[in-house]
Amino acid sequence: MSVADPWKPFREVMQAPWDHVAAWKKKSGRKVMGHLLPDVPEEILHGAGLFPVAIEGGGVQASHAQALIPSYTCSHALGAMEMRLRGDLNVLDGMVIPYVCDTTRNLFHIWNLQFPNMANELLRMPKRLDYPGVRTYLAAEFSRLFESMAKLSGKSANTQDLGESIRLYNRSRARLREAYDLHRTNPSVWTAAKAQLLIGSSLRAPREDHLKWMDALPWDEKGAAASVDRIPVYVRGKVWDPPQILDLFDQLGFVIVRDETVTGWRSIAQDAPANGDPIAALVERHMAAIPYTGYHESPDRMVAGFVLRVRSSGAGGVVFLNPKFCEAAAFDTPDFQKGLEQAQIPSLILETSTRGVSMGQVRVRLEAFREMIGNDLP
Ligand code: SF4
Repeated sequence: MSVADPWKPFREVMQAPWDHVAAWKKKSGRKVMGHLLPDVPEEILHGAGLFPVAIEGGGVQASHAQALIPSYTCSHALGAMEMRLRGDLNVLDGMVIPYVCDTTRNLFHIWNLQFPNMANELLRMPKRLDYPGVRTYLAAEFSRLFESMAKLSGKSANTQDLGESIRLYNRSRARLREAYDLHRTNPSVWTAAKAQLLIGSSLRAPREDHLKWMDALPWDEKGAAASVDRIPVYVRGKVWDPPQILDLFDQLGFVIVRDETVTGWRSIAQDAPANGDPIAALVERHMAAIPYTGYHESPDRMVAGFVLRVRSSGAGGVVFLNPKFCEAAAFDTPDFQKGLEQAQIPSLILETSTRGVSMGQVRVRLEAFREMIGNDLP
């Protein structure tokens, strides 16, 4: 890959991820394990000697997948099936699908029937986060996955290797958080689209290489316009779907001070403890993460935690980027919105999907929201 333009490797990965994955597979001799977002610990796949690649279905136009799963399924799940059916994911040796909602559970069973020659795993995530036995349960589930993945790669499940992988991923996340902070302070150069390009490509490239590419970036580059003219906004959502929405935030003068998407801040916010039992470290990382929309804890605590996160971000308002046909998001959002109202924080709900969403309409609604919160800011 060319390094004359330091941003080029990241763009190349995002433009043709599967060609690159196939080339890396050939070069390294490692088996490739796909994992549907969110919350499959990539360190477990990496530590077991596999090459983990995140699968994100948002942004994929579906034409084959509706034959197998209902069309009223979120773009993320439908898009993943579409990519497999049209052959993009032929390079995968296996796939881990996390059980985070009914949709992903059903997707796994259809996937497993449809593609029996792949090594498929359902990772059963705990849906309640506040039960006493949750850490013990999750440690057992992560250990089971680690052993199964090691068997697939033909090596023994070695916790020392897993510890090394944790330290590698921690270093990568620290760099990505630096990029995210630069978006907050210098958004004319470090746009939301650029910060997301780094995070998105990290989920599709070998981390070792990705870290080296990040080291070559112009970290001290300054922009002309300061962030003071921008409207600070907080985004809660699943994935950036449609992907062009990031450019829209940039063009309309927003700065995304924090987000909760699984390919955004939520994926890099926490590290796993670098020492001690690596499985326990991954459990702690999961428990410290912003709860995904399909998980449950006491509604009051969920709302209070959300409002606190928004307040401490300094955002002037919240945009809910809710995936169309996602029951979990539709269930959570009214409580969150009520909590924001009580805290006098304005919010906007956008229900988006790769299918049938007018970007013109999204633009108009974001423009109106910007005017509303822009006038209220000091
Ligand atoms: S929680 Fe919602 S967005 Fe996530 S996979 Fe399930 S239905 Fe799709």
